[in-house]
Amino acid sequence: MDGARRRLERERDQALARLADLTGDHEAIVAASLDTNADDEHDPEGATIAFERSQIGALVRQVRHHVAEVDAAIDRLVAGTYGVCEVCGRDIGPARLEALPAARTCIGCAARRA
Ligand SMILES: [Zn+2]
Repeated sequence: MDGARRRLERERDQALARLADLTGDHEAIVAASLDTNADDEHDPEGATIAFERSQIGALVRQVRHHVAEVDAAIDRLVAGTYGVCEVCGRDIGPARLEALPAARTCIGCAARRA
């Protein structure tokens, strides 16, 4: 399971780097919007900024959720339940775990849920 641990840690690092990028963008946009708000809060520029902010906010939430999923997968790895489908109890399978290291369910159960 050494390979799984390395994959999860790499996945986590990538997600955290993405989060840092998004947060940096977010702060830059907030700073820019503070400048424009001094003008007129009804100008069209303000609406664009609000849209960008909510888009980035949604991405930030997604990436944070992913980090939490990866952390949960690392916990399962420590507990010895990693790679076991949470729904049917069968092995998730190495190919799926390679593509989605934080997967909780096998591909069959994921398809049934979707
Ligand atoms: Zn399953």
